[in-house]
Amino acid sequence: MTTTVPRFEELAAPSDWRTVEFISDLHLQASEPATFEAWRRYLRTTDASAVFILGDLFEVWVGDDCIDDAEGAFEAECGALLREAARQRPVFFMHGNRDFLVGPRFLAHCGLTGLHDPTVLQFGGERTVLSHGDLLCLDDVDYQRFRAQARSTEWQQRFLSQPLAVRRAQARGIREQSEARKQSGDAAYADLDGPATQQWLQAAGARTLIHGHTHRPAVHAVGPGLQRVVLSDWDAAARPPRAEVLRLSPGRGLERLAAVPM
Ligand code: MN
Repeated sequence: MTTTVPRFEELAAPSDWRTVEFISDLHLQASEPATFEAWRRYLRTTDASAVFILGDLFEVWVGDDCIDDAEGAFEAECGALLREAARQRPVFFMHGNRDFLVGPRFLAHCGLTGLHDPTVLQFGGERTVLSHGDLLCLDDVDYQRFRAQARSTEWQQRFLSQPLAVRRAQARGIREQSEARKQSGDAAYADLDGPATQQWLQAAGARTLIHGHTHRPAVHAVGPGLQRVVLSDWDAAARPPRAEVLRLSPGRGLERLAAVPM
């Protein structure tokens, strides 16, 4: 499958930023309170100049109106915490494949800045590409087809025009299907396409891509002097717990920090 290089947005860090932190794939949901607690503790204690959420903060998002009723109490609580965090420092939000329906109303409610996928961050004399990562998983042709559809205004308007209860039921159905697919061993674990990743970095004039989505934290060389750095997902109830932050500071480079003290 061939791809064209997407449009990059540029984000120039203000000169007073000392360090920035990246997280992704927390898959927050009411049934996993330990991960929520770890995230709350992280947001309340970080001293980063800015926090970048690179997709799949939420396990599912069926529309910004989900926080309006009792069933959305958990999402409302997450919103309140984001709002508190965004009063302390800029918090950037990029969509993942699970929470791509987070809309301008929720972002404004929380004081978050939406981040285009992909974005080039200019910070500390370096250009770094930020992406959720799903757009580069070219082998998963079915998913790319769904993605193209689901990111269209028509699809989203049609989905969001349904009653909240219908949307929640549909989301549950999709999730059960994907769980069944995983357990049957049918799901191919897609990874980022190497040549396309290299193309992106060259087009962006950057050496490093930071992304999530695959839940396989690592550093991969993707060409001469080029690398992609994969964020960890979060599951604070796992043993050992996974709740990792990637920190970028000029001079020190990239460091992985455990958000949950072990
Ligand atoms: Mn994802």
